[in-house]
Amino acid sequence: MPNCTNCPRNCKNNSYCGKDFEKIRVAKVMRHIYEEPIICPKNQGSGAIFFSNCSLKCVFCQNYQLSHFGVGRDISVNELAEIFKLLEISGVANINLVTPTHYLDKILQALNLYKPKIPIVWNTSGYESPENIKKLKGFVDVFLFDGKYFSKDLAGRYSKATNYFENFLASIIEAKRIVPENVIIDGVLKKGIIVRHLVLPGCYMDSIEIFKHIKKAVGCDVFVSIMSQYVPMFKAKDYPEINRRLSPLEYKKVTREVIRLGFDKGYIQDFDSQSESYTPVFSDKKFFEI
Ligand code: SF4
Repeated sequence: MPNCTNCPRNCKNNSYCGKDFEKIRVAKVMRHIYEEPIICPKNQGSGAIFFSNCSLKCVFCQNYQLSHFGVGRDISVNELAEIFKLLEISGVANINLVTPTHYLDKILQALNLYKPKIPIVWNTSGYESPENIKKLKGFVDVFLFDGKYFSKDLAGRYSKATNYFENFLASIIEAKRIVPENVIIDGVLKKGIIVRHLVLPGCYMDSIEIFKHIKKAVGCDVFVSIMSQYVPMFKAKDYPEINRRLSPLEYKKVTREVIRLGFDKGYIQDFDSQSESYTPVFSDKKFFEI
């Protein structure tokens, strides 16, 4: 079994993420219209490729069918390059690689076969190593990092990844070296960094720490997307402290502080976003929805 370094777990086997070392598994290819508007113009959408399996596997994952159960189709590197072409021809604004980290080596092979002329978005859980982010130079244009946890305790409890934040922060610093400035053309982000954060119930202080450290590390010239849409799903019922929705007050505390810190580009959500309606349908019959 090869030693894998695609994520900070540096495993000798695939027992955590569940991927097959020889193949890429994809759950869905779609024209996505619910990503952050700056990468998702309504008339084009974003060309999302949802990779199956996951190196983080949060207990509350809303896409647990693919992240935890690995639902999807096995494809080759050549087929992935063909999917890039199909999406590009369809007129989407970018190629949006959703949860790509564990397939880093294969995705780089596919991008070496065919590099689309539209931007490539690395849409990651944030569980990355800076060494791997460095490899994306020249291939990836927009880094969309989920910033999940600051505290080791939370990262350990919900994702078995106590080394999450140190790797996340070092990876953002590396991404900032690759794309030092945001490039926006006709209202669409062509190059830059977005940090997305889902506020968890009872964890607003942790949320605020994430943004304080980002500011210290790379400043406030990144887009932020602060989400209120947490719904207890999958194994969240086994963790009573997160087996509820977020309160408006918790969300307000986070958004108010992030704005006060100086992050002035990005998105906050309406509270009625707390529904499952933004979750794509993953089934083999709906594999291609371009
Ligand atoms: S990508 Fe999977 S196999 Fe590779 S280091 Fe991460 S968890 Fe381990």
